[in-house]
Amino acid sequence: MTASETLPVVQGRGLRKSYGQSEVLRGVDLDVAHSETLCIIGPSGSGKTTLLRCLNYLTVPDAGTVTIEGEILGPRPGESLYAHAAQQRLDRTRARIGMVFQRFNLFPHMTALANVAEGLRTVRRMPVGEADDRARLMLGRVGLGDRANAYPGHLSGGQQQRVAIARALAMEPVVMLFDEVTSALDPELVGEVLAVMRDLAAGGMTMVVVTHEMSFAREAGRHVMFMDAGLVVERSTPAEMFADPKDPRTRAFLRRVLPATGA
Ligand code: ADP
Ligand code: MG
Repeated sequence: MTASETLPVVQGRGLRKSYGQSEVLRGVDLDVAHSETLCIIGPSGSGKTTLLRCLNYLTVPDAGTVTIEGEILGPRPGESLYAHAAQQRLDRTRARIGMVFQRFNLFPHMTALANVAEGLRTVRRMPVGEADDRARLMLGRVGLGDRANAYPGHLSGGQQQRVAIARALAMEPVVMLFDEVTSALDPELVGEVLAVMRDLAAGGMTMVVVTHEMSFAREAGRHVMFMDAGLVVERSTPAEMFADPKDPRTRAFLRRVLPATGA
């Protein structure tokens, strides 16, 4: 293993966030190792989205630190977030984090190919031909090699979400963050998106996946983390989490979301 493979890719320490009087993250630690898929589960409102957004500073945490491959994201202790150096480091580090949301937010007036190539051209300043070649490759990876010229309006929700995944992958992130990316999809379209995510996980992509899909957490995750009321209640392997949850809150949640087994 190289040095960069032994460092956690993502490390969060003591992350806190409040909105007004309501403390949404109450001191969360998180480690994601190279090539690991960490699934985050928990009831609605438990802080999962806020945590994910704090990991790339889309939401600025009130306290705590995030490091990406050992590099601190955001301001160093004593430094202002708005200091030039902090902003530069933030831009640089953030560019290494891919994020996919529940809503795909594709540009409707641009083809699938152009949507994927856009960041490469504007952020990476890649020449058009090279960006298009890379975008085509990424669309192939999510099974959409034949839909490169389609506009989002002519793609299904599942296909649009796969374009969004290709767009994030094109930037060569060291980690991909997924926030409930199948929740807005019709049930019959969920499988194709999860299949792409399973392929990525199997291919060694480092991923943090907030999901309601317990089958995905059970099969694709190396670790599962259960959050409740802004805290990590329990973190374990999927086998332990689903067969032998330790905390009563975890047990209650799983009883609610898992179909009855009849056992
Ligand atoms: P989850 O993703 O687990 O459903 P969230 O992180 O979205 O949870 O939300 C946690 C809590 O924080 C919720 O009570 C939500 O209403 C609140 N919250 C999230 N974002 C904001 C915001 N921008 N302003 C005020 N409250 C927010
Ligand atoms: Mg959420």
